[in-house]
Amino acid sequence: MEGWIVPPPKEPEKSREEFARERREKVRWLARRGYLRSPRIREAMLKVPREEFIPFLYRDYAYLEVPLPLPGEQATISCPHSYPLFYEPLGLDRGARFLEVGLGSGYGTALAREIVGPEGLVVAVEIDPLTFSFARENLARLGYRDIVLVLGDGGLGHPEHAPFDRICITAACPVVPPPLLEQLADGGRLIAPLREMGVQNLVLFEKSSEGIRREVICRVLYVPLRGEYG
Ligand code: SAH
Repeated sequence: MEGWIVPPPKEPEKSREEFARERREKVRWLARRGYLRSPRIREAMLKVPREEFIPFLYRDYAYLEVPLPLPGEQATISCPHSYPLFYEPLGLDRGARFLEVGLGSGYGTALAREIVGPEGLVVAVEIDPLTFSFARENLARLGYRDIVLVLGDGGLGHPEHAPFDRICITAACPVVPPPLLEQLADGGRLIAPLREMGVQNLVLFEKSSEGIRREVICRVLYVPLRGEYG
């Protein structure tokens, strides 16, 4: 993807223990850098083995701060810091009803499942059939069964399980798809990379009885949203 140098594919050599050590180091690094603050997000990142969501020939790079290619037309697994970057301002926590648009590898979905816990709900939508099956297999292999996985256009949301307390879009949108704002609960938050004046801003939206408040978090670089609102 533009903006990063993807390391060359190679047979993985690292052991489970090496990956576990890299995972703990990454969590410490994310906390030191201020990306990671809440204990539940921290626990989830310590628990979920990110290497299990990386295509075989890129697995050794699981904990590098680079996005890596995924099966499918235009999908990448985002770099490790982007998960707390999205989930901290979103205030993702125990018990939330969560919708993810852009399932990708399934890694962010697994983190969300750990964070919201059994009282919460996770619905994840992916538009690309190849990417979708990759994520579904990863999640099944790790024993995640209580996630609603949907193959389709996430811009349309998922009315069957609406309203959602938290919505996360992991592809760059020209505007927030209106169905997603409709399916957001009162007091709910939505976070998305938005294409604005030639750059991408990560924008947080909060819905209340007074309307919708927006706040720019930082510049980001994501693959474009496809489908009706892409
Ligand atoms: N969170 C993922 C990021 C994946 S990249 C991860 O870290 O693994 C963005 C993903 O959004 C891609 O898989 C792409 O296929 C998907 N996507 C793009 N447009 C979409 C749409 N309209 N609905 C659902 N998924 C979409």
